[in-house]
Amino acid sequence: MLNGLMQEQPLLISSLIEHAARLHPQGEIVSRTSEGPIHRCTYADVRRRARQLANALTALGVGAGERVATLAWNGYRHMELYYGVSGTGAVLHTINPRLFPEQIEYIVNHAEDRLLFFDPGFLPLVEKLAARAPGISRHVVLTDRAHMPASSLPGLLCYEELLAAQSADFAWPQFDENSASSLCYTSGTTGNPKGVLYSHRSSVLHSWAACAVDGLAVSAQETVLLVVPMFHVNAWGMPYAGAMSGARLVMPGPALDGRSVYELLRDERVTLALGVPTVWLMLQQYVESAGLRPAEELCLRRVVIGGSAAPRAMSERFANDFGAFVVHAWGMTEMSPLGSVCNLLPRHAGLSPEQRLALQEKQGRAVYGVEMKIVDDDGVELPHDGLAAGHLLVRGPWITRAYYREEGAGNVDGDGFFDTGDVATIDADGYMQITDRAKDVIKSGGEWISSIALENAAIAHPAVAEAAVIGAAHDKWQERPLLIIVRKAGHELGRDEMLDFLRDRVATWWLPDDVVFVDELPHTATGKLHKLRLREQFRDYRLPGA
Ligand code: AMP
Repeated sequence: MLNGLMQEQPLLISSLIEHAARLHPQGEIVSRTSEGPIHRCTYADVRRRARQLANALTALGVGAGERVATLAWNGYRHMELYYGVSGTGAVLHTINPRLFPEQIEYIVNHAEDRLLFFDPGFLPLVEKLAARAPGISRHVVLTDRAHMPASSLPGLLCYEELLAAQSADFAWPQFDENSASSLCYTSGTTGNPKGVLYSHRSSVLHSWAACAVDGLAVSAQETVLLVVPMFHVNAWGMPYAGAMSGARLVMPGPALDGRSVYELLRDERVTLALGVPTVWLMLQQYVESAGLRPAEELCLRRVVIGGSAAPRAMSERFANDFGAFVVHAWGMTEMSPLGSVCNLLPRHAGLSPEQRLALQEKQGRAVYGVEMKIVDDDGVELPHDGLAAGHLLVRGPWITRAYYREEGAGNVDGDGFFDTGDVATIDADGYMQITDRAKDVIKSGGEWISSIALENAAIAHPAVAEAAVIGAAHDKWQERPLLIIVRKAGHELGRDEMLDFLRDRVATWWLPDDVVFVDELPHTATGKLHKLRLREQFRDYRLPGA
């Protein structure tokens, strides 16, 4: 072997903010703050304040590799923590505030967090947590002196005072790019949450994939609304990809209701927005009830939807009412999260709107850096024919190989492939489609029925706000689908009408055996349908004729 003669420059997160501040010093970060007003700053400001933070962390004695936790919504101060903490060599642990308090207590202690930075609104949670998480030596409120809440917590620090006391001179340390940069726990519907430990290298490589044109095409041309929270897989890597590309970033703070999101899209002239289906559902319902004309009022060109399947009806509405293209994407916490993106190929230019919508239901093609395969229960690889559904396995430099402080291999096989727990098909063009989580598949008489496909079909009915399908016990077929519906406010819909609607849209033997109506469906901390809880809720339910 002959070694190449290229420079060995470690891929470090600090280099992203340095690049942004040099090349896009005026690139704007717009945040809706928890104090209320809209705050505006630039990449140059984020660099300056991240350096001040780095000095503050050093003064507080935070060493390389130590964990610094956040409980915070999307905003510029959280972005400063992304750079200030990881830049010094410490590890940013973003905590999902929607987890149960016992889960938060578990992960704070499991991660051995030393400092906790939090938005003022989380004070009651933090006060309860403090006694149960003795490892946290200091608590810092992400606000200024005027907005500091009264609290009995000893030694509570004010973020703005912490920064003001420090100089903006700080030389980012250079270290091994494989060092840990941030930590995010999976929401885990069963058992304890598991820690996914990202590295500087994985985060920088992932940003390139996010910026690539056939990735999410994040660029300086875009104004990007991060509806996806910064406590969930680093907001799909957007704080890093934003700095890499100089994109203008818009952060919604805690206000994720339809009206607040709509106003930000309109007032900040957002061109690209990213989030899970639940928030887009709220947005589309708001637009409908308020009788708005988004296509005329907004500059929105693309909406990236991931985290759960983007229903066809949602993509259709974004196309028709908003004039925006839905970029369906798939990934997971363990994958930083980007795995596949549903962009079109040149030969799709002639597709009819119907055909295009059908394609957009797929989760898309693997981005460079992610290898995918589907296998049967015995691990035998299945064909890429768009029909065979199997366990989806992935491999690549931003995919986890083990969970933090967990024994065992962490779902990785001998060839380094990670079992995602998803079931999918892959077609001849490489378009992957998730048919289910392995544990949610409905096994009817030895055949598999996709709960996601049924949910997507049901949600296309104009009276349906949300739909979930679970397998209910059946003497003859083992399991049959049960459809659970939340009706839109003010709409009528009965069981038979719903089944008639589905009859033309799904295979006869997929047709749910029953439909029940509920006021709301349970969700996980990351906004997905909580199928486990739903199954518990309907454990004693008897299907007609079962
Ligand atoms: P999380 O780690 O919380 O981001 O969850 C990852 C899981 O969400 C995946 O394994 C999938 O089951 C699901 N998921 C993510 N994106 C999609 C998508 N576009 N369609 C269907 N399921 C998705």
